Amino acid sequence: MHIADRVTQLPEYPFVTISRTIAAKRAEGIDVISFGIGDPDRETPGFILDALDKGTRNTPNHRYPETEGLPEFRKSVTDWYERRFGIALNPETEAISVIGAKEGIGHAALAFLNPGDIAIMPDPAYPVYDVGTIFAGGVSYKVPMHEEAGWQLDLDDIPTEVADKAKVLWLNYPNNPTGGIASIEYFQKVVQYAKAHDLIVLHDNCYSEVTYDGYDAPSFLQADGAMDIGMEFHSLSKTFNMTGWRVGAAVGNADLIEALRVIKSNLDSGVPQAVQEMGIEALNNHGDWVIENNRGYQDRRDKVVEALRSIGLAVITPQAGLYVWTRVPEGYSSEQFANALLEERDIVVTPGSSYGQAGEGYIRLSLTLSDDRVAEGLARLQDWKIPPPPVN
Ligand SMILES: *Cc1c(COP(=O)(O)O)cnc(C)c1O
Repeated sequence: MHIADRVTQLPEYPFVTISRTIAAKRAEGIDVISFGIGDPDRETPGFILDALDKGTRNTPNHRYPETEGLPEFRKSVTDWYERRFGIALNPETEAISVIGAKEGIGHAALAFLNPGDIAIMPDPAYPVYDVGTIFAGGVSYKVPMHEEAGWQLDLDDIPTEVADKAKVLWLNYPNNPTGGIASIEYFQKVVQYAKAHDLIVLHDNCYSEVTYDGYDAPSFLQADGAMDIGMEFHSLSKTFNMTGWRVGAAVGNADLIEALRVIKSNLDSGVPQAVQEMGIEALNNHGDWVIENNRGYQDRRDKVVEALRSIGLAVITPQAGLYVWTRVPEGYSSEQFANALLEERDIVVTPGSSYGQAGEGYIRLSLTLSDDRVAEGLARLQDWKIPPPPVN
């Protein structure tokens, strides 16, 4: 029996030691508090669950969905884009449902890359841009991002010969894991750059609705000319506590949407229609629910930032996303500091290095655990004297 290289030769997360320590601690009955997972802890709101209840009794929903999604779902997405970002999209040709953004992102590589083609992407990053590229036989060109630049991918850091050869540029703002944000002016530069180098821009906008302090995140498609070269992924997962239901959308240039539809129609049969009906309800009728929900995260964010500062870390307060991303103390690697938190305080955080080399020197704390668990975790940091870094 032979397993394909794409299964056995995937980049491995440098998380091995930590996972082993967590398992050992839990086996000893120690209550380990995890700030590691980015998965909303609260329930899907009732008004959305009601749509599912109704949807299960709607017998057409018992049959195969269309890959591209219900016309009503696509319209709720494009209506929402119009209300939210002022962008007019054609629901027939410029929007498609995805089984969560992750599925669309992974399959996009098959739609836009031939074997050997280059996809340019940020480092650190959500891992699926890279893995999708690998599965398509493409080559990832990772652009290191920096705190000093607000974690904005600097287009000048891409060698011209790479940009000319590459087919795709991935971006993600508000950014996971760094919390970096981007302006429409930045997206404007990206559009010009992409046109100059004949690149497709794929923007992951999963966190546009999870924002704080009144910050209003833009859509990539708001930039002039973005519709000529770009597509954006949007997800209901993070905004509406819907990670378990698997629904999102891709919107943008009609040729790109059609290419993704062709790939998807050959590999999956779309999002269960009752789940699309949840999506319709969420997008059409959320009212102030999202604002209220974000207020809860903002409160956790403030507490986490304050606690980290109190032990001496230089934290930048994120304006969006579900994470606090911070530099580790001088002399520590990401993994060493994550280990110290686990060994000494029974707290799990994600080493920044697991999101790419440029994440080395940082850790990520997720805000998706209950207020009680956040409070308990942060209490463990009180008066913690960070030990001197291990000598290598
Ligand atoms: C969570 C996440 C996704 C995937 O979301 P789903 O819609 O649940 O698949 C995509 N991109 C980023 C950056 C994420 O953090």
